[in-house]
Amino acid sequence: MSDVEKTEIKPAILILGAPGAGKGTQGIVLGQIPRFYHFACGDVFRQLDTRTELGQKFVEFSRKGELVPNELTIQLWAAHMDSRISSHQYKPDIDILVLDGIPRNVEQAQILENHVKIHHVFHLSCPDRDELARRMRKRALKDNRMDDASEDVIQRRIKLYEDETKPILDYYPNEICSEVDATQSPAKVLYDILARLQTLEVYQKIAKLTV
Ligand code: AMP
Repeated sequence: MSDVEKTEIKPAILILGAPGAGKGTQGIVLGQIPRFYHFACGDVFRQLDTRTELGQKFVEFSRKGELVPNELTIQLWAAHMDSRISSHQYKPDIDILVLDGIPRNVEQAQILENHVKIHHVFHLSCPDRDELARRMRKRALKDNRMDDASEDVIQRRIKLYEDETKPILDYYPNEICSEVDATQSPAKVLYDILARLQTLEVYQKIAKLTV
């Protein structure tokens, strides 16, 4: 049995948003705060050795703007969590997991429920699809992200978000979902997230442990 399966249900928050909405930017900052652990699914996929079978699968799907199959994705997630628990970088009993890029569809949300409890969903909302596409083109150049490089793939990724990922919002109870205007400056987006975060019971309990 893996560490992920052995430990109890882990507390988590989810940052949900279209590609380009700023999930990664916010997740990185939140992950710097003591007692938060940021897990960015796309980053973990990108760090894979592309000579491995999973690395190959990632290249195959991501270059088309498609999702890696759920089973492989959850395996990757569990393996990463296991290794971070073993190396004490992530302490599931006292850290809040900041999920970014996972779950990406309702089936993943259902599977993850065996492992994590999502206490809050921050929906980074950016209804302006042209703005999302502009941000993706920019990061394709800056971060050398092949999946954001072609116009075709950008549009497919945005559509996939609308069709498969956004419905996750209906899966979680309304009262644990907050909408954050992702067109604001990154600092204001963070400010809005932190303001809400501080009111969460799970945060108040865990915050006491750091002082
Ligand atoms: P991201 O950096 O989150 O935009 O992810 C980049 C690519 O990684 C996606 O287009 C997918 O091909 C793959 N990916 C990331 N997260 C997931 C996930 N939860 N499920 C399936 N595929 C994923």
